[in-house]
Amino acid sequence: MGLKFQAPRGTRDLLPDEIARWQWVEARAREVLGRYRYREIRTPIFEEFELFARTSGESSDVVQKEMYRFKDLGDRDLALRPENTAGVGRAYLEHGLAGQGRVHRLWYLGPMFRYGRPQKGRYRQFWQVGAEIIGTPAPGADVEMINLFVDLFEAWGFRDLVVAMNSVGTPASRRAYGDQLRAWLQPVSDRLGPDSQRRLEENPLRVLDTKDPRDHEAMKSLSAPMPRMLDSLDAESAAHWQAVLAGLDASGIRHELDHGLVRGLDYYTRTAFEVHDRSLGAQSALGGGGRYDGLIESLGGPSTPGVGFSIGLDRVVLVLEQRGFTPPETERSVYVVAMDATRSAAASLVRELRREFAVDADLEARAIGAQMKAADKSGARLAIILGEDEGKRGEVTLRDLAAGTQEVVKRERLIEALRARLKPENAETT
Ligand code: AMP
Repeated sequence: MGLKFQAPRGTRDLLPDEIARWQWVEARAREVLGRYRYREIRTPIFEEFELFARTSGESSDVVQKEMYRFKDLGDRDLALRPENTAGVGRAYLEHGLAGQGRVHRLWYLGPMFRYGRPQKGRYRQFWQVGAEIIGTPAPGADVEMINLFVDLFEAWGFRDLVVAMNSVGTPASRRAYGDQLRAWLQPVSDRLGPDSQRRLEENPLRVLDTKDPRDHEAMKSLSAPMPRMLDSLDAESAAHWQAVLAGLDASGIRHELDHGLVRGLDYYTRTAFEVHDRSLGAQSALGGGGRYDGLIESLGGPSTPGVGFSIGLDRVVLVLEQRGFTPPETERSVYVVAMDATRSAAASLVRELRREFAVDADLEARAIGAQMKAADKSGARLAIILGEDEGKRGEVTLRDLAAGTQEVVKRERLIEALRARLKPENAETT
């Protein structure tokens, strides 16, 4: 008989063995974000559908094909969030954050939902960590964003990252570029997939964003070189672009041009960036971001510049797993072993120790041999054995489970002895 229930297609259970890696990745992210002095924001995982339709563009894949859209019992038109920048922008406006400081540096971490075709590295529920700077058009904000982006990856042990960069200009300069792209693609228009044929009219930049192999084939066959957005930038966007590149050079960030990088969403302006890891195969994008000066205004707010990124944590964890990375054991953990005569002393000791150390103990009043086996298996560093005779003398046995050595210590000096032997380790980077 088959199982009656399974996790919905495209979703996964993260079991305790995998969670260690996730917690490590999240903890490193929080450390780095804290050192950059960004502040966390948590917004709902569902919002009005219209919010996403407005910010992502009605014609985008995300809105047309990938949205978890539903009516609640009050007949509200809602959707699970496919990304979090729209929610952050909405919260920024709703709570008047503009009145509480000119520039806001924010971060978030949480699940996002897209109804895509599941495959390695692509899920219907996936996790992103992201950051936003809202309130300044300065190129310095783009530079700081990319510094933070790279430093997160470095904290996770990624080395030699090269950030792919482009500028998508402003909506006005993009229109001129769109015309050039349309003309460039015209000779192969009938060989493009149906989505791209439609986009060629509506928004030719999206054709560059395509995942359809037919489109890539068609574009490769063109003899004329692809027109470049950078050649169509307005003067201000060009100056901004140069300032961002200079800032990245000054802070030692490796980057390269990617003229095909256009980002799928309508609200992006100027800087666009991305990193890939080829070991992931088809779903190689680890994260990306850019400037979105049009977003807040599109939500009905005053014109407010912003820049941000998001990183797919499932893919980060997947790369770490492929590399065989397991987080360093930092737990200060012990296993308390008791006998019948010391069981009640053990109960109070366990509770006391748990104020400071990670403590495991038997739940089933098993024989000492079974408890020692469990202690070995638990991964604890030390076992505290409460023997009957020692107990009468006010002593306990401390056993180093890895070395197999043991010593007797006075009960009142136990905490001190544990502190000396279980110094918190610095989590090391790979
Ligand atoms: P995007 O919001 O599309 O720019 O995505 C940012 C990052 O989120 C990507 O670079 C991926 O790492 C990750 N991501 C996007 N969609 C998915 C998905 N369906 N499953 C897993 N990760 C995803």
